[in-house]
Amino acid sequence: MATNSHADALSDGLLEMLRGADPDVAGWMSKEQDRQRTTLELIASENHVSPAVMHTMGSWLTNKYAEGYPGARYYGGCVFHDEIERIAQERAKKLFGCRFANVQPHSGAQANSAAFMATMQPGDPFASLVLKDGGHLSHGMKINFSGIFYKPVHYPLHYDRAHAEFERIDYDAARRVCLEHKPKVILCGYSAYPRVIDFAKFRAIADECGALLVADIAHIAGLVAGGVHPSPFPHAHVVTTTTHKTLRGPRGGLILTDSEELAKKIDKAVFPGVQGGPLMHVIAAKAVAFGEALAPGFKDYSKRVVTNAKALAGALSERGYRITSGGTDNHLMLVDLRGKSDALTGIDAERWLEGAGIICNKNGIPDDPRPPKFTSGVRLGTPAVTTRGLGEAEMSAVADCIDRALTAGLAGETALASESERVRTAVRAMCEKFPMW
Ligand code: PLP
Repeated sequence: MATNSHADALSDGLLEMLRGADPDVAGWMSKEQDRQRTTLELIASENHVSPAVMHTMGSWLTNKYAEGYPGARYYGGCVFHDEIERIAQERAKKLFGCRFANVQPHSGAQANSAAFMATMQPGDPFASLVLKDGGHLSHGMKINFSGIFYKPVHYPLHYDRAHAEFERIDYDAARRVCLEHKPKVILCGYSAYPRVIDFAKFRAIADECGALLVADIAHIAGLVAGGVHPSPFPHAHVVTTTTHKTLRGPRGGLILTDSEELAKKIDKAVFPGVQGGPLMHVIAAKAVAFGEALAPGFKDYSKRVVTNAKALAGALSERGYRITSGGTDNHLMLVDLRGKSDALTGIDAERWLEGAGIICNKNGIPDDPRPPKFTSGVRLGTPAVTTRGLGEAEMSAVADCIDRALTAGLAGETALASESERVRTAVRAMCEKFPMW
């Protein structure tokens, strides 16, 4: 994104005002601003929003209650909010090529809970990927609403190393699981899956067993919008997503469908089913972000996110790390650290990298023998660094920084302390060359 001094002026003005109003919060916010400016964000589910998106969220729109939908609110004074919500709906529909959009879900998990409520009765079975191999907690975790109120059954990846589709979705097994359990819903779309999802294949399975197909594209929404991942439409009956990952909008959720009947159920499930008043400041920011995603530059951004991910995965493999499934088709990769050393865990890698200014999260790899607290892998993603303007050439430098920090960590605390400082300096220089705005 281009440097925008006006935006910095707004942020600076905010901090200045807050230092007077609430110095405690202002102090920590200022430190967080500095952290974001000077570190490389490789968390696959994060991004740097534009100043327009960010400052729309911090606006007077937060003052308003607007329960209901445009033209049918439970409060007076909503006329301008109706217009803003309509813009958000229209842009979302245009962006994803579908007929209905509910822009009110506060988050991706809220979107999923409303989608479930619209498509299932409590106690109904649904099918999703084995959670530890890439699913989200709202896809059937025991202590999440999805596992408490519904009955998850899971389909696997290919776990056989010799198989050509090793660590990719096993569609034949998914079909068998669905034919056996007759789920009401088949859920596809994941938190840590680096390969293209074949929505048409899932729809064929759904049709065969009489299920609805729900695609949770929280991670890949920006890539779908940018045309670098196939669209879930016309295959999925319902599409849920977050708006803050590759889509580069405010934190929030969104539900889409082509079916008028399902759209009515979804609207009822969002409000009054699982939510009260919509966050109108966030809905306005969603509208701004959707407008940005509709602009020509976003296609190029999405392309670069993917080419950067491929370049980073390639550069890490060259340095001895195993990338699960042999690479990536999207914005993220799972790095099996055991390729480098059996002693290397996700928990250590995350900490050592953070010390060097590279932010990521530990993540289980498919069929991981280590528990989720430790893991054998890290998940890396390129949406945020691509927003800063880093390109393929820089990905090799980033891989180098990662490898230097991890190699030093394996060598012990003394080596880590000095090398981490050197890598931190290189990271700072890269961040200065590629500012967030
Ligand atoms: N669905 C998927 C696939 C996700 O990866 C996530 C978040 O990481 C969510 C849903 C939930 O989104 P939120 O954190 O906004 O509730």
